[in-house]
Order: sequence, then structure tokens, then C-alpha cells
Amino acid sequence: MADKILEFVHTSTGKQIAAALGLPVPPQLKRAKAGYAEKALSNANALVGASAFGPVATAVVKALNAMGASIKVSADLAGLDGIKQAAVKAKLEVSISQADNGVPENVYVLDVTSAANVADLRLLYDFFNPRLRKVPSNSRIVVIGRPRGDCKDALAETAQSSLPGFIRSLAKESGKNGTTANLIQVKTGAENGIEGALRFFLSPHSAFVTGQVLPVVGAPKGVKVAAFSEKPLTGKLAVVTGAARGIGAAIAEVLAREGATVIGVDRPADESTLGATMSSLGGIACPLDITDADAGKKLAAVAASKGGKIDIIVHNAGITRDKMMRNMAAHLWDMVLDVNLGAIVRCNEQLLAGDAFGANARIVCISSIGGIAGNAGQTNYAATKSAVIGYVDAIAKQLEGKGISINAIAPGFIETQMTAAIPVVTREVARRLSSLSQGGLPVDIAEAVTFMASPLAVGVNGATLRVCGQNLVGA
Ligand code: NDP
Repeated sequence: MADKILEFVHTSTGKQIAAALGLPVPPQLKRAKAGYAEKALSNANALVGASAFGPVATAVVKALNAMGASIKVSADLAGLDGIKQAAVKAKLEVSISQADNGVPENVYVLDVTSAANVADLRLLYDFFNPRLRKVPSNSRIVVIGRPRGDCKDALAETAQSSLPGFIRSLAKESGKNGTTANLIQVKTGAENGIEGALRFFLSPHSAFVTGQVLPVVGAPKGVKVAAFSEKPLTGKLAVVTGAARGIGAAIAEVLAREGATVIGVDRPADESTLGATMSSLGGIACPLDITDADAGKKLAAVAASKGGKIDIIVHNAGITRDKMMRNMAAHLWDMVLDVNLGAIVRCNEQLLAGDAFGANARIVCISSIGGIAGNAGQTNYAATKSAVIGYVDAIAKQLEGKGISINAIAPGFIETQMTAAIPVVTREVARRLSSLSQGGLPVDIAEAVTFMASPLAVGVNGATLRVCGQNLVGA
């Protein structure tokens, strides 16, 4: 479903009318047109700062260098020495040029992992305040901090706890021109997971992700952090449920773009649509109701018949059956609970019991911001989507020992058949109530899922990432 207002205000007549009436103009988001590229930042002007020299600053410099960025520092910042030392430590010949040379930066990375008291937080002001008036559209801001429980004392934890609030506000302030701002909270020892997270957050693959906090906790047992390679999913077998249309079809497409062979699952009634979607991307159609008692076993058998194990499974199939709680028939409660939650848990249990997962397998579940904020008439749906967030968090530890990761993506308002059915006024309000003043597209969810399913997210486990343009509902 197209966002007519967004399209109109970017026509020449629309621009004039919007200007004359003082209407807000939602930005045109720059989305990825192709897969992940090794030198993704070769045209970027990256301003980098660090509160001190350390493993995070070193990882940041290495990562930006690997992405081909021209790294800039600011002479007036404490971060200058940290970054220079990091470059020496990494044995890198990075061309460090001075900031403020007239070319505005479009990538900002600030490492504040060593901020350990209130005074240290001044760096946030010093780094961003002089620059935020001239940030080009679709720029990328990433701040890196430490998670709670990973700080040397209560004061350091207090300082680090300022970062989520800071980044959420910065994202709201800077989203008007399509700029995103996100926080990576990296655990001590997990620094080698920073590059993958930066590749996602600093690229057009994350155009609709802003104001979010992503924990990087470290690779699961026995999983090595590999050097980046293009088409990172080459040779991987990926299962996507609900793949006939909507978000699932987009997920299948982006996973295939990155090299995966996709087994698309959907209800047998949708077999012809599923077949068409899968044949367009060289995938395998698997008509199957995921609520079948033995759906997991059947999926394992399909994967085995293709000569492999399951490297990626995306539990995307989901339904809504909205009714106020007081009017909801029991079968509507049961149906939503089973499709959106019961089937996921059962399927994973069967795949694990049958040893059907490949080494370093990655599981991605689809939640919803409805499960975070709640919606009147969606007690059944929101209960399942909230449970998915708890499920990935709870089971991640258990799977980690097997070398398997599990994460969730929580979409906000996405332009699909589901949201096209919302009454027009509610739909318009839901679209605009985000920092990017628009709904997302299925491809935005597909990009985030693909990140989570790929080695780029090697250090991410048990997390839920919202892909919602920082929708104010449940922010
Ligand atoms: P769609 O309804 O467009 O697509 C869902 C697909 O899943 C359909 O093809 C559907 O088949 C299939 N499906 C449903 N039940 C089963 C089942 N028992 N077995 C196999 N396949 C099944 O949904 P979206 O693409 O909009 O949503 C995808 C996911 O994203 C869902 O989990 C949804 O909750 C979530 N989400 C979506 C948001 C949005 O704005 N669109 C926002 C937040 C979360 P059929 O058509 O036959 O029912």
C-alpha cells in the first residue's frame, strides 16, 4: 500500500503546497538497492570520537577502515587521541583528516564506553552540538556504550545508563531529514562483534531503524567471528514461514539476495502464491500449516531432502483476530496464541530434538511493537508478540551452548495488506507518529531480519530490535 502523502509532497507541486501551508514533509528514505558491499562507506565522511583509547575505539577504527570510510576526527575533541592511538594499535594506515573542513559528515560514530561519571558525559554534547545543524539527509549516527552489569561501579553504570535516553531523543531530533541514530551496547570482550553491527547501522540497510539500542553480547560457544564477505549467506539454507506474501515474501527475497537458498512455508491454501514467490527467487515452496503438530519434523525432512540442515529459520507467519477482550470468542484467542506463539515454540523444540539445525544456526522471530505498547482489541495478538520477546531472551542462554543464536525483530507500522485494512484516519495517524513521519516497507523488516540471520550479527543473542522508524507508540 502506497503512502500517497509521502509521494505527493516530493513532487514539485506537492513541495510548493507543503511549503505554502507549512506542512511537515516526511523524508525520502534512502534504502539499499543491492546487497552488503565490502567497501560500503567508500563515499562516506565519517566523524569518529572516543572517550578514551581502548578495545572499542580500536574495533571502530578497524571496522570503518574495512568499510572504506574516510575517517575524520575533530581537533577540539578529547576523542582525537583515542582514535589516533587506536589506529596505531590496529596497525592501520588510516587517513585521519581534520573535521570541519567544509564537507559535512554523513556518518558519526562516538565510542563512550569509558564514560564513568557525570562529567564524562560532556563528550556527548561536545561531539554532537556543533554539528547537528548541518547533518545531510539520510546520515547515520551510532553511539557505542556498555550494557548495565558490565561497568566497574555504580557511577559508571549510571553514566552508561544515560545513553538510551540520549539516543532516543537524538533520533527524534534528527529524524526529520531521514537521519537515524542508534546505540550499540557492547559487552566487554565482545568487541569483535562491533563491525557487523556497524555495517548494518551505518548503511541504507537500516533506513527505518532509529532510536534503538542493540546489545552485542558475544558470539555463541564455538562460533568464530569471520571476516566480512559479500553475499554472507552463500551456502546457507533458510526457512521462512508465512513467505507467500507481505513481509515474509520480502524476507525470503532479501535472504536470497545475500546468497541463501530459501525454503518458503505458507498455508497449503496459498500454495500457488507461495510457488510464484519462491520461483521468482529460486527458492523451494513448502506448503505447510505451521500449527500442524509435527510441523518442525516436516521442515527438518524438507531440509534433509535438499541435502542440508537448517542454518536460518525466520518465524514470520502471524495472524491478527482483533476483538475487545470482553467480546473475544475463545477460539480467536486460541488461534492467535497457537499461530503466533505455540507453533514457534513447538517447531524449535522439534528441530532441536531432531538435530536439524546446522552449525552456528540463527533463529529470528517476528514480534511487534503491539507486544510492547499494546493496542485496544489486540490482547491475544499483543500477548503473543510480547511473549516472543521474552522467549528469545529466555532461551538464548540455553541455545548459546549449542552455538545457536535467537533474536527477534519487532516491526512497527509497515505498509502491507494488514495495515491497509486499518481505517483511514487511524492509519494516517499511525504512519506519521514516528520520528521518520512514515510507515516502513516490508523490505525494512527483511533487511533487519537478514542482518540478524547473518554473520554480521554474530555477537547479538537474545535481543529484540524494533524496526519502526521510532514509532512514538511504545517508544
Ligand atoms: P500477512 O498476513 O500479509 O502475511 C502472513 C502470512 O503468513 C500469510 O501468507 C499467511 O497465510 C501466513 N500464515 C498465517 N498463518 C499460517 C499458518 N498457520 N501456517 C503457515 N502460514 C501461515 O502478514 P504481514 O506480512 O503483515 O506480517 C508478517 C509478520 O509481521 C506477522 O508475524 C505479523 O504479526 C508481523 N507484524 C506485521 C506488522 C505490519 O505492520 N504489517 C506490524 C508488526 C508485526 P494466509 O494469508 O493464508 O493467512
